[in-house]
Amino acid sequence: MLKDKTALVTGSTSGIGLGIAHGLAAQGANVILHGFGDPAAMDRLKDEFAERYGVRVRYDGADMRWPEAIEAMMAGALAEFGCIDLLINNAGVQHVAPVDEFPVEQWDAILAINLTAVFHTTRLALPAMKSRGFGRIVNIASAHALVASPYKSAYVAAKHGVAGLTKSVALEVAEAGITVNAVAPGYVRTPLIDAQIPDTAKARGISVEAVVRDVLLAVQPTKKFVTVEQVAALTCFLCSDDAASITGAVLPVDGGWTAH
Ligand code: NAD
Repeated sequence: MLKDKTALVTGSTSGIGLGIAHGLAAQGANVILHGFGDPAAMDRLKDEFAERYGVRVRYDGADMRWPEAIEAMMAGALAEFGCIDLLINNAGVQHVAPVDEFPVEQWDAILAINLTAVFHTTRLALPAMKSRGFGRIVNIASAHALVASPYKSAYVAAKHGVAGLTKSVALEVAEAGITVNAVAPGYVRTPLIDAQIPDTAKARGISVEAVVRDVLLAVQPTKKFVTVEQVAALTCFLCSDDAASITGAVLPVDGGWTAH
């Protein structure tokens, strides 16, 4: 149980992050929901969590491209809760294009949101974790932290970077009661994947149906999408006391993709 712990799940207004926030709140953790969303819908989401799980809930819409916005989010959360015990770095974006046509602003945004933001939340959360002698950092990386696909240069570079950052920080804080791990999902059917299917079809010159069959599920030996609940369950386990000896790991949840 995670009662009396506080979790920040970045990018928890949608997809995998929302599933993780539900999983942690169901175990009694207070949650800081984060990500983009219309203000009325965010109010409803906060109320839903508070009523359903009886936990304290905060929402922040910080744009992860900007360090000042991340600093303000972390300062607000730390002022309210004292410590972010469970830091789940999940916010992420994707853009699919050949590298020589890759829009420079997309490269910058993907590196900022998927990699540099993880550095900022981590550096800002660690002092309070250290002073309490407990912390869990789970970075939602990707199978693309371990292997590459064409036309995803920025995403693959950022996610490989997350794997390296995970290991480096894990070593730094190993004696402080803090674990740092990365979860590396295969394809999960979320808005992030749905949005890239048409671009992948265009980049490869194939149909949308062929992208699902011959590109996405082709790499997963199970021939099934990974579910949000499966990624959330592993993330929740990594936050538990039983996972205290797992640190510096990059753990695939990918239907066998990276066994190839
Ligand atoms: P999603 O699009 O459903 O959710 C992304 C979340 O990030 C949303 O809450 C969104 O508001 C937030 N976000 C995006 N840009 C932001 C910004 N600039 N500032 C603040 N918040 C921002 O995506 P998802 O599929 O749930 O992906 C979540 C994570 O899982 C990402 O890091 C992604 O790379 C990773 N992942 C996804 C898959 C997959 O197949 N869906 C596979 C492997 C890894």
